[in-house]
Amino acid sequence: MNLIDIGANLTHESFRHDFDDMLLRASHQGVSRLVVTGASLQGSIDALALARGRPGVLYATAGVHPHHAVDYDDATDLQLRELATQAEVVAVGETGLDYHRNYSPRDVQLAVFERQLAIAVDLHMPVFLHQRDAHDDFIALLRTVRDRLPAAVVHCFTDDGVALRHYLDLDCHIGMTGWICDERRGTHLRELVKLIPADRLMLETDSPYLLPRTVKPAPSHRRNEPMFLKHICEEVARDRGEDALAVAAASTRTAELFFGLERLG
Ligand SMILES: [Zn+2]
Repeated sequence: MNLIDIGANLTHESFRHDFDDMLLRASHQGVSRLVVTGASLQGSIDALALARGRPGVLYATAGVHPHHAVDYDDATDLQLRELATQAEVVAVGETGLDYHRNYSPRDVQLAVFERQLAIAVDLHMPVFLHQRDAHDDFIALLRTVRDRLPAAVVHCFTDDGVALRHYLDLDCHIGMTGWICDERRGTHLRELVKLIPADRLMLETDSPYLLPRTVKPAPSHRRNEPMFLKHICEEVARDRGEDALAVAAASTRTAELFFGLERLG
């Protein structure tokens, strides 16, 4: 099995003490390449540094999560633009809207989302998007720029069928996390995942968050890590009535094309 984890928060402090072992475990479970999520300016700088240390294995995104939108100023914008031009940075984001927690005011989130979409448009890069409890504002803004973006993935999709239809109509990609392995709150995703064309479906752990509930026994520390991506692949395959190896191959090919990984070798 050859998998790409398109969303792993490997700059998280919980990975500091066993980073190399964590990557080794992932590779033993077929996860050969990973995209390290940049969710703040410093996080994006750190993600790029990690990617540079593991060429051909780690890649990075550069962006500011809506939680941190209040920290975004003109200097941030300039630095993100600089980061985004680096070869190892394969998408702009994580950016988007999160009205679930509202750590940043909504008007600030919207403005900062718009500025990062503009970076992707200017540099002709794919975007790595986050949306929670904000679908209407999110889709309205995305619609205004979608035809100027080469590609867009709505990562950690947990929303309903209407939202999925909107995203697919805008030719977005969809990122599936271990949420789909959660028999308490993820069952609707088991139906919806059948509707996603193979060339629009990608897999991610969102490590260290969202430990799949199908990992048994669950590790005592509850930390999710990329080696568990296989569990997500297997659940998706079960739900789609497909072979896990076929889902792995298709989602890997989709991720290679989405992020342009082949040009980096
Ligand atoms: Zn997210």
